Parts: sequence; structure tokens; C-alpha cells
Amino acid sequence: MSKSTSIDKPIHIILGGTFDPVHFGHLRMTQEMLNRFPTAKVSLMPAAYPPHRPQPGATPQQRIEMLQLVLGKYPQLSVDTRELERDEPSYSVVTLRNIRQEVGDACLVFLMGTDAFEKLNEWYEWKALMKLTNILVVGRPSSQLPTTGEVADFYHEHSIESLDELPQHRFGKVGFCQMPQLDISSTYIREQINQGFSPRFLLPDGILDYMNQHGLYGLNPKS
Ligand code: ATP
Ligand code: MG
Repeated sequence: MSKSTSIDKPIHIILGGTFDPVHFGHLRMTQEMLNRFPTAKVSLMPAAYPPHRPQPGATPQQRIEMLQLVLGKYPQLSVDTRELERDEPSYSVVTLRNIRQEVGDACLVFLMGTDAFEKLNEWYEWKALMKLTNILVVGRPSSQLPTTGEVADFYHEHSIESLDELPQHRFGKVGFCQMPQLDISSTYIREQINQGFSPRFLLPDGILDYMNQHGLYGLNPKS
């Protein structure tokens, strides 16, 4: 693991996702970020589901509440609700433009797993992201950094030598962060429940309690 970096400007790290539900894969990524960048502010930013994709099991409000439940006691971690406050799914580039205006010339880092990064070229105006933010890619089981194609070329064009360099760049760089990989996904959690199995120990107990209380993902509501 690379050592942490001392910096004079705050680093804003954003993990976008659907968090349906939030699990230890997401949460461990945030801690790995704080271990490397101790002064960072890390936001988890739930997205609205695009209309053509299967709709989430939890409502936007429930997804926010689950995130707040688990992040509430950690001051450096927060929930950014802006994408769910709009009625329609918003493009990441538009959201990041908005965030850039708020953070001024701070270092901005958009965090994503390799499964998301390998499809980056399907995102609206994806190359424009580089004028707004850095991207940090985290290894995820069953997917890898692309070695050929547009996204691979993009990675090579913008990649940094070492993660320690990242805080010096406000935007425009892509890094890869190796960390112990957790083969956990929200899909797997929903599938386990669907098959009548418990998802316990894949996510915080408090989240599972919330899911039980609200009868999410096919669980029977409990009081
Ligand atoms: P789903 O199965 O519903 O797609 P998910 O587990 O992939 O859920 P998302 O909310 O889609 O979770 O993920 C948000 C971001 O977090 C994505 O960039 C994704 O790559 C990353 N991520 C999620 N889980 C992990 C994990 N276990 N390891 C590394 N990255 C992860
Ligand atoms: Mg996903």
C-alpha cells in the first residue's frame, strides 16, 4: 500500500452508484481512500435509475436512508443526495460540473470499480469528465482494466505514475488503486434474498435490520 500523502488543499472523493443496497464492497473502498488520503472528504452519491434499466428494489429515499444510517457517525464520509433530488437521471458530466463549481480548485476524484470504468466510453460526453475531475479506478473481481480499445487508450493517455501524485492534480488524471478485492455486489445480495438465503455479513447489520423493517428486496417486513 502506498503511504498517505500530505497536501494543503482538501481532496474531494466521490463514489457514484446505485447503492441498492450499500454493502461492504462500497464501504471498504471509502476507508481505503481515507487510509491513503487522510484529509479527504468522501461522498457516496446515489444515482437515479435510468428509465430503461430494471428499477431498484428500494426507493430513492430508502437508498439515502440506508447510506445515512451507516455513514452518519463518520465525519469524513457523507451522502450526496443531489442526483436523487432531481426527478430524472442526470449525466455524471453534468453533476460533476456542478460539483466542480462548489469545490473551486480543489482536487476532485471520481471513484469507480473496474466494471464501471471498462464501460466509460458509453457515458455521455465521457471525455469531458477529464476537464472536471480525476478518475480513480479500483480493482473489482470479474473485471479488469481494459487493455485494448478506446478506454484503454484513454487510460494510458491520462494515467499517473503513482497514487501519491494524485493530490497535485485538480483534474485530468486517471489512477488505478489496488486493494484487497471483495467479491460483493448489490445484485448478489438481492439474489441471495430472492433465493431465501441471508445476506448477513455482506453488509452492515444495521442495513440488514433496515431492509428487514422495510421489507426490502422481498424480505418480510418486521417491526
Ligand atoms: P449492482 O450489483 O446493483 O450493480 P454494485 O454492487 O455494482 O450494485 P453499485 O452501486 O452499482 O454497486 O456500485 C457503485 C460503484 O462502486 C461502481 O463504480 C462499482 O464498480 C463500485 N463497486 C461496487 N462494489 C464494489 C466492490 N465490491 N469492489 C470494488 N468496487 C465496487
Ligand atoms: Mg453496479
